Amino acid sequence: MAKRDYYEILGVAKGATADEIKKAYRKVAMQYHPDRNPGDKPAEEKFKEAAEAYEVLSDSDKRAQYDRFGHAGVTGTGRGNGGAGASNMEDIFSQFGDIFGDDIFGSFFSGGAGGSRGRGGQRNRGTRGSNLRVKLKLNYEEIAKGVTKQIKVKKYVGCQTCAGSGAKDKNSMQTCGTCGGSGQVRKVSNTFLGQMQTVTTCPTCSGEGSVITAKCANCKGEGRVYGEETVSIDIPAGVQEGMQLSVGGKGNAGERGGATGDLIILIEEEPHKELHRDGLNVAFELHLSFPDAVFGTQAEVPTIDGRAKIKIPPGTQSGKIFRLKGKGFPAVNSYEKGDQLIYVNIWTPQNVSSEEKSMLEKMSDSPNFQPKPEKSDKSFFDKVREMFS
Ligand SMILES: [Zn+2]
Ligand SMILES: [Zn+2]
Repeated sequence: MAKRDYYEILGVAKGATADEIKKAYRKVAMQYHPDRNPGDKPAEEKFKEAAEAYEVLSDSDKRAQYDRFGHAGVTGTGRGNGGAGASNMEDIFSQFGDIFGDDIFGSFFSGGAGGSRGRGGQRNRGTRGSNLRVKLKLNYEEIAKGVTKQIKVKKYVGCQTCAGSGAKDKNSMQTCGTCGGSGQVRKVSNTFLGQMQTVTTCPTCSGEGSVITAKCANCKGEGRVYGEETVSIDIPAGVQEGMQLSVGGKGNAGERGGATGDLIILIEEEPHKELHRDGLNVAFELHLSFPDAVFGTQAEVPTIDGRAKIKIPPGTQSGKIFRLKGKGFPAVNSYEKGDQLIYVNIWTPQNVSSEEKSMLEKMSDSPNFQPKPEKSDKSFFDKVREMFS
């Protein structure tokens, strides 16, 4: 099968900047993401194709190779399985955290791939920072529409003085003499099978490849200081109480240039005064006076966004459920939308005057006031079952 041009796959021009490529990939990946196209094979293929294109075009060396030699320049030459053609979905997802580190998209859709950073085999610069958890309270309107929140997070941030290196200056950072900067040492041992060579992390520099001879005064060599950062978070519409969103690279800064941890947002729902959430649906209890139920009326009800008028037909029974289609919450990963359900309750007076009492007594003998449920007046339980099915 002839491979498509990588630039064409992402829909960018040959001279596109790294930022344009990233944006374009993000758009394509969102469009064909398996969570949005469940069971759709062609979409999955497009999703993988885009990941492959991005893998090459986002790497300046690979991109240059590709520009000169085309697909032949980048296929088959990869190191290990890291070459072009990341066909493994797990791999693609784990890249999201790195690629879209500054927003929710990546780890959110893949269910939090945050932990799988740090590709093996390379020098480990510093120590990875820990993840941070914060609670975020949202009201119904914010949940229904999605919202961008700015939150102040107290956490470790990279030291500005030493740019996270932990060293006092350029001269106080030296290549490790034990391992020569590779971060690894080879040990040769004699066994009865002959000589065996093992590779282990360098004990002198803990695998960092360099040693610090004089520490930065600001961070005392840690490469990070305790501070505060305002993080902008895009909350997608439809989130629910207890849901966790992971924002890659916004947790605690690592030590001495180590990777930054993730920021985990725990969603809390602010209760609504009149509405009650039930999954995607929203419930509202409407209390009607007896005359309104008999004669019919226009009722105004609260919804997630503003108020709505509904027509109550004459002869409305207690327990009747009205449905406002599409007035519920959206689903996070699909275009599905819930409804608003309005439960009718006829208000029974608890105190009556003597005049009211005599009126009611007169009416109680009238045949129209005797209950005569028909087959069409389904039981309350049938109606509830129907509404939620
Ligand atoms: Zn070393
Ligand atoms: Zn410092």
